[in-house]
Amino acid sequence: MSDGTKAATFEVKRWQTYVPCKTEYLRGESRSKPFVVDVVEGDRVKVWDPTGGQRMGGHRWIALRNLHETGTTKTGKERRTGFRLHCQPPVDPVRQELCGSCFTWAARDQLAISARGFGHSTCIPCMADIEINS
Ligand SMILES: [Zn+2]
Repeated sequence: MSDGTKAATFEVKRWQTYVPCKTEYLRGESRSKPFVVDVVEGDRVKVWDPTGGQRMGGHRWIALRNLHETGTTKTGKERRTGFRLHCQPPVDPVRQELCGSCFTWAARDQLAISARGFGHSTCIPCMADIEINS
C-alpha cells in the first residue's frame, strides 16, 4: 500500500479564483474568463467576473464539477474544459485586494492601483506589464 500520502481534499471555497484550463481551446467563448467564487450551493457555484456584464461585473452560475484543483487530470492529461484553481482566498480580506488583471489576491502594499471592490485593483507586477505594453 502506498496511499500514505493522501492529498488534501480539494474544496471549492468563497473567494478562490479560477482561470480557464485551456484558454486557447476556448478562445472566443465569452464564458471562458477567470472568475471569483462568490457562493457555493450544492453542486453549483455562483461566480463573479469583474470584467463581465455591467460596470461592476457579472454573476453567473456554473456547475461545481467544472472547477478543478489543477489543469491536469489524475492520469496527467491536460484538461481541455472547465476551470482550474488559480489563487486561494485571501488570508486577510481586510489587507488584501484582488488584482483584476492576474486574479491574484495581493496585499495592499503590493498594489499599484487600489480600488474598492474585487477586481478593480491592479497589482504592481501587472501595472508594470501594462506600462511596458502600452
Ligand atoms: Zn496582478
